[in-house]
Amino acid sequence: MRKQFLVIGLGRFGTSVALNLSALGHEVLAMDKNPHAVQAIADSVTHSVQADARDEETLKALGVRNFDVAIVAIGDDIQANILITLMLKDMGLKYVVAKAQTALHGRVLEKVGADRIIYPEKDMGLRLAHNLVTANVMDFIELSPDYSVVEIVSPLKFVDKTLSKLELRNQYGLSVMAIRRGSQIVVAPGGDEVIRDKDILVIIAKNEDLADLPD
Ligand code: ATP
Repeated sequence: MRKQFLVIGLGRFGTSVALNLSALGHEVLAMDKNPHAVQAIADSVTHSVQADARDEETLKALGVRNFDVAIVAIGDDIQANILITLMLKDMGLKYVVAKAQTALHGRVLEKVGADRIIYPEKDMGLRLAHNLVTANVMDFIELSPDYSVVEIVSPLKFVDKTLSKLELRNQYGLSVMAIRRGSQIVVAPGGDEVIRDKDILVIIAKNEDLADLPD
């Protein structure tokens, strides 16, 4: 379904979010107080406006409450970031995602009603760390401080063996949720599924067990 997104703050992060949403076929209103930032994105999104988002009347005039999702991507000006998040929620916007600088900032955003808080630098650092220390990790989603969903290239040791033979749950404390094999995907593979060379395993595992995986 085509959705309407409001992106406020067109730094590197906000611009990337806006361009990607637009490329995925969604309507995007991109807003920044800096005319150069607006100009740079104008041809690539549905609408763009140069305005200070701290101005409540401007937000109302743009009918922001009708958007499905707003992303507050202002970084340095923490005060503006919090104020704008608060106003958007007050105006009835259903889902507001706000970018936080620190854990404390994130807690304030939570209190003023942000539906989702993201820490792009922290998240990227976490991904990179896992990518560097764990064998063959391609992608990583933290479910809780203890558990993650991870995509790994199948370790050579697993190739040509069935899942039941490998006993991954007992050996490594992990469950295979799916296997990506070229363009094919095997969802919830059974015990008789044979792992092939270059299979991508989508696993759920305890973070502390990931380091024990073979290469
Ligand atoms: P990134 O890391 O994504 O490049 P950043 O975290 O350094 O960005 P800033 O540069 O502080 O974030 O802000 C991103 C954008 O938000 C800037 O282009 C800035 O002009 C815009 N911005 C800041 N305050 C407002 C505001 N009150 N209304 C609209 N835009 C704003």
